[in-house]
Amino acid sequence: MTAEYQVHEQVAVLSLHNPPVNGLGLATRIALLAGLQRALADSSIGAIVIAGAGKVFCGGADIREFGLPTALAEPNLLDLIDQVEASPKPVVVALHGVCMGGGTELALGAAYRVVQRGTQIGLPEVKIGLVPGAGGTQRLPRAIGLAPALNMIVTGNPMLADNLAKIPGQQMIDLLVDGDLIAAAVAFAQSKSALAAPKLRESKVAAVDADQVLQQARAAAAPQFPAQAACIACVEAALRQPFDEGIAFERAAFANLMDTPESRALRHAFFAERAAAKIADVPESTPLRTVRQVGVIGAGTMGVGIAMNFLNVGLPVVILETSEAVLQRGLATIQKNYQSSVRKGMLTEEKLAQRLALLTPSLEYAALADCDLIIEAVFEEMSVKEWVFRQIDAIAKPGAILASNTSTLNIDQIAQFTSRPQDVIGLHFFSPANIMRLLEVVRGKHTAKDVLATAMALAKQIKKLAVVSGVCDGFIGNRMIEQYSRQAGFLLEEGALPAQIDAAMERFGFAMGPFRMSDLAGNDIGWAIRKRRYIEQPEISYPQVFDRLCEAGRFGQKTSAGWYDYQPGDRSAHSSAAVDAMVIRVSADLGITRRAISDTEIVERLVYALVNEGAHILEEGIASKAGDIDMVYVNGYGFPLYRGGPMHYAREVGLSQVLETMHGFAAADTQNRQKAAWIAAPLMTRLAESGVGFS
Ligand code: NAD
Repeated sequence: MTAEYQVHEQVAVLSLHNPPVNGLGLATRIALLAGLQRALADSSIGAIVIAGAGKVFCGGADIREFGLPTALAEPNLLDLIDQVEASPKPVVVALHGVCMGGGTELALGAAYRVVQRGTQIGLPEVKIGLVPGAGGTQRLPRAIGLAPALNMIVTGNPMLADNLAKIPGQQMIDLLVDGDLIAAAVAFAQSKSALAAPKLRESKVAAVDADQVLQQARAAAAPQFPAQAACIACVEAALRQPFDEGIAFERAAFANLMDTPESRALRHAFFAERAAAKIADVPESTPLRTVRQVGVIGAGTMGVGIAMNFLNVGLPVVILETSEAVLQRGLATIQKNYQSSVRKGMLTEEKLAQRLALLTPSLEYAALADCDLIIEAVFEEMSVKEWVFRQIDAIAKPGAILASNTSTLNIDQIAQFTSRPQDVIGLHFFSPANIMRLLEVVRGKHTAKDVLATAMALAKQIKKLAVVSGVCDGFIGNRMIEQYSRQAGFLLEEGALPAQIDAAMERFGFAMGPFRMSDLAGNDIGWAIRKRRYIEQPEISYPQVFDRLCEAGRFGQKTSAGWYDYQPGDRSAHSSAAVDAMVIRVSADLGITRRAISDTEIVERLVYALVNEGAHILEEGIASKAGDIDMVYVNGYGFPLYRGGPMHYAREVGLSQVLETMHGFAAADTQNRQKAAWIAAPLMTRLAESGVGFS
């Protein structure tokens, strides 16, 4: 059933019933229209209420219908809303929980809106690179006025009904309800049945300083997100044009945007994010382990951030260190971070006290005995990890999940230090761990399915985007970034300078170019990894500039000198004449004649290196979906969201084109130092030949 029909005292109540969020798919639209027609044909019915069954009124279009012909099949949403608006009997929508996108547009077509307090109402279409396409840009400004409507439509962020109701002169919310919503909506409908129903299409858009408001919105719109400018233009049409012309303008804008690379990328990201939570061989019905208390070992850079994630959602945390002094330093960092949130008005003193009260510092492993999840974030040394995991194994209760935050070490090997490898998993947080949204969940050879399912659920609870990775050196993200960084280094030796490469990548849309990023993370981290590789994998060649920089003690921001110069306490990067001279000297030492390198080459070399390594990762089953790789890059490495991630971007460019360019790079590599980087992953060649992309 997709819409229930009931009669309450001469009022027909139509309830959307399409779990999980009452999406407005074709069957639901047909059922709603049928219900409306039945109510209109029945002379005993005086008014109509449209409500939502379950926890929400309506989440909008049915995303399962995206891109399918049924999305546009009759009755389409515009027609349905027109019929609701044209109803000779008053239609009242009863909103609760969440009302988004098409749900909000449907609600705006009704004569009246009775709304439960706490309901979130929004038009989030801009977040997938679109404008609302069923009249939302025309009716919302008429309902709440120009500036508030612009804000909601251009940001895509929802507003609380309680706040919408406070907008002076608003026609969005006729009644805010605390108790029984349906009873209130029915009573409201009965009180209105004799009156002519108001129609938003007949209202004017209330606006103060309209030109200035629109000008400010245009100035703030991000050019790489064309949907923002289109939203502003549609709202302006609502202000300046008759309703029907505004609707036509909105339709045209919607159709234009559907085919932009930006919207394709954003829609890809939308689906990829949801798909990342699904693991093919771990059914959603997998029972979860209960996690009531968390242990964190190590109160260094990562440990404190990791602990905060759990405190933030009310889970008690025991944090363990080796000495009182280091422990106190870690606690002070947590306090400082929270205090900064209080200063910014993001946290109350009361909440701060509650969170700190959940934290138990300790120097004894015995304190972890009651923890259901223990995460270690100690030094990145296998011998230290071994010692720590043997301690945890001896003390942790049966069934506790034992996690490592290691960036590079082998989880399967770590699991062997315990008597329970099925309980061991990698939880690779990104720095700063209390802020970065990405979490790589590393599935070991023996990791139990319920451990994996519990880790994914916990990630959601602490508001992280979890992506599953298999075990390999660097997992998905760092294994790929190594290829990217190597290309950046080779380009230095061939003729580029750090600032040119960073600028080219930042223009492409990366949050930070590779050298500014490396200075932030610490250049010594890569140095330690390379030293290990020189012994374990001598066949890999690295740009010599990397070691030269570290030999000069230029570890990055922490030493006020890296690829750039820094003033103490200031993160702004200044080009360094010493580094530029060093780069030029290395080229000479290698016998390379430096050449001018274009920004296009910089972008292609770095991004295609990511793509090729990503294809290997996919082929080896380290990532199970191309979208997972994209989500790692967009959420953890600053890859531009509006390009969808490296694998989606390669598809947009065309895999054959990417391969051809890679062949050119291989041919130009006369010193043969980059060979492995440009040997195409067989998967990529196969997909290019069959003319499809990675997904
Ligand atoms: P850090 O040096 O800042 O902190 C490590 C802490 O562990 C230190 O405070 C140390 O005193 C403590 N420690 C060492 N041995 C211990 C033991 N036996 N028992 C209890 N505490 C012990 O290091 P970090 O940057 O926080 O890195 C920790 C882990 O997280 C490493 O495995 C690292 O690879 C990983 N990681 C780091 C980053 C990052 O950007 N820093 C990102 C992701 C993952």
